[in-house]
Amino acid sequence: MKDKKKTTHIFQSEVKELLHLMIHSLYSNKEIFLRELISNASDAIEKIRFEKLYNPEKYSKNNYIPKIQISIKKTEKQIIISDNGIGMTYKEVIKNLGTIAKSGTKSFLEKINNIEKKEKNEFIGQFGVGFYSSFIVSETVSVYTKHASNKEKNGTLWISNGKGEYSVETIPMEEYGTKIILLLKDSEKEFLESWKIKQIIKKYSDHISIPIEIENYDKKTKTISWEKINEAQALWTQNKNNITKESYQKFYTYITHDSEKPLIWSHNRVEGNQEYINLLYIPKKATWDMWHRENKHGLKLYVKHIFIMDEATQFLPNYLRFVKGIIDSQDLPLNISREILQDSSITHILRKSLTKRVLNMLNTLSEQEKKQYQEFWNVFGLVIKEGLAEDSENQKTISNLLRFSSIQTKTKEQILSLKEYTDNMIEGQKKIYFITADSYKSALNSPHLEIFKEKNIDVLLLSDRIDEWMMNYLIEFNKIQFQSVSKADQSLDDLVSNKKIDTNKNKFDNFIEKIKKVLNNKVKNVRITYRLKNTPAMVLTDSNDMSTQMAKIFSAAGQPVPKIKYILEINPIHPLIKKIKKIEDQEIFSNWIEVLFEQSILAEKGNLDNPHLFINRINKLFLL
Ligand code: ADP
Ligand code: MG
Repeated sequence: MKDKKKTTHIFQSEVKELLHLMIHSLYSNKEIFLRELISNASDAIEKIRFEKLYNPEKYSKNNYIPKIQISIKKTEKQIIISDNGIGMTYKEVIKNLGTIAKSGTKSFLEKINNIEKKEKNEFIGQFGVGFYSSFIVSETVSVYTKHASNKEKNGTLWISNGKGEYSVETIPMEEYGTKIILLLKDSEKEFLESWKIKQIIKKYSDHISIPIEIENYDKKTKTISWEKINEAQALWTQNKNNITKESYQKFYTYITHDSEKPLIWSHNRVEGNQEYINLLYIPKKATWDMWHRENKHGLKLYVKHIFIMDEATQFLPNYLRFVKGIIDSQDLPLNISREILQDSSITHILRKSLTKRVLNMLNTLSEQEKKQYQEFWNVFGLVIKEGLAEDSENQKTISNLLRFSSIQTKTKEQILSLKEYTDNMIEGQKKIYFITADSYKSALNSPHLEIFKEKNIDVLLLSDRIDEWMMNYLIEFNKIQFQSVSKADQSLDDLVSNKKIDTNKNKFDNFIEKIKKVLNNKVKNVRITYRLKNTPAMVLTDSNDMSTQMAKIFSAAGQPVPKIKYILEINPIHPLIKKIKKIEDQEIFSNWIEVLFEQSILAEKGNLDNPHLFINRINKLFLL
């Protein structure tokens, strides 16, 4: 390595922004700087352990004892955190401590600017503020570091006061690893107390599998001793029976930074064909980026207890992306890359069983802890719905997890299961009925529901954006088919007694013919219906045509949509229809029919292609 003189650099603008945010938002939660620095030290040690196994020729063969050490120098106002991890090269220092490499940071910064101060704290904590959090408490931060593959006797020193610039230089250094010296601000003297530091480590870092030691100085004998302050055994490798609820919760906080406790978790040691341990958590709330494209998710992957990678997305399907936790496999090779992981048959087997495990965990929760399950559904229901399309193999289990609002639940909250719906079907009901609409209210008030309300037949009210799409995959439940109430179907006609239809059979033929003439090729068909009560007419889509909601989704996504031709259904007992039927003047009759048709479209779609024409027609009728 060439000697490099001291040079000064400017932080990348995102770093400046983040520094500013942190110093001003995290004042009530300053202690997390220690969690972040220890977490980095632990990552660095996990990396060197891995490297030594995978590329042993590059590294010295000494007997490696990993550790993280902390010293407090009260008079100098310093905290020193050192690790014998992988360390950094000169170039890495500039990249890692001068920029933010994480994707998604931009959207994070945008999002955080728009939220309440109160929530900022929690939010920024969830993001994992990292190394830069040391400036919350420090006047200056100095990083001495040497990469483990560097055989020369030098390393790199990085210094900054967090105000926009930092310096780097090459310095003499013997041992590899990283030492970080924080010169504390005068206001942060509390962190110079050894008990305080111990307390913070217990709180956040007890489950780090690497020993963390604190320096004790005995004034009498003038000797230094190191005291181990954490458990230092990876939680998931311990016997389930010896782990307390609190330990599980703390470990969750450690891996997620979530300020809420997890909803539930599942810890299993599996032996047999595949040997592995999993510890999977279901959070209570969604992460800020759950709906972002660059959403960070996936499990922490360990192989034979050695950390391999974060965010291994291969072990769970995308619709379970809210699950957090770790998988520790005995069978995967240590030198596995993301690409190989993707294609490995072991991965596929693990993915299958982990998916089952999560679904079972949710299923049990839904049966045994209804209130908690409801909480879960309200937050993650939308993601679970994606599963119907993504995971056909587990469709049945996923169907059981679904919750809906319906006419009879009388609430917008989705609380009804399909089992409950089918248990509650009336005699002779052959299908599960649903309606899709833009909102709960418009679904609930749709004219399509009039007959169902009258007959006490429940209808699922679907108004999430994904619902229409989901219903393409949800064909049946326990062999009972789903049927949209706004699509033509024999079962809908069967809801009305035949007597009514027979006695009126031919009375309306003429009238219908006249209407057809007016609407000509605007409609697919015109017919009489007895399913309506308070509405004069409504439109349906034919059984094989694209539904209105689907067409809306397509056109919102900029996709071409075939023009839907509706079936117009007329309610013969409605006073308005009786009135129109009697009109003899052809022009007025046509006008009425057009209005009738357009208002049915309006009720169905929520908008019209040409509202002006509609208004003009109505105004004309008013003036009669
Ligand atoms: P993150 O840990 O999420 O990547 P940080 O801001 O905490 O983000 O750290 C930035 C990077 O700096 C790390 O990814 C790592 O490459 C490097 N780094 C920080 N601390 C250490 C350390 N003690 N040893 C080696 N590398 C480190
Ligand atoms: Mg970090």
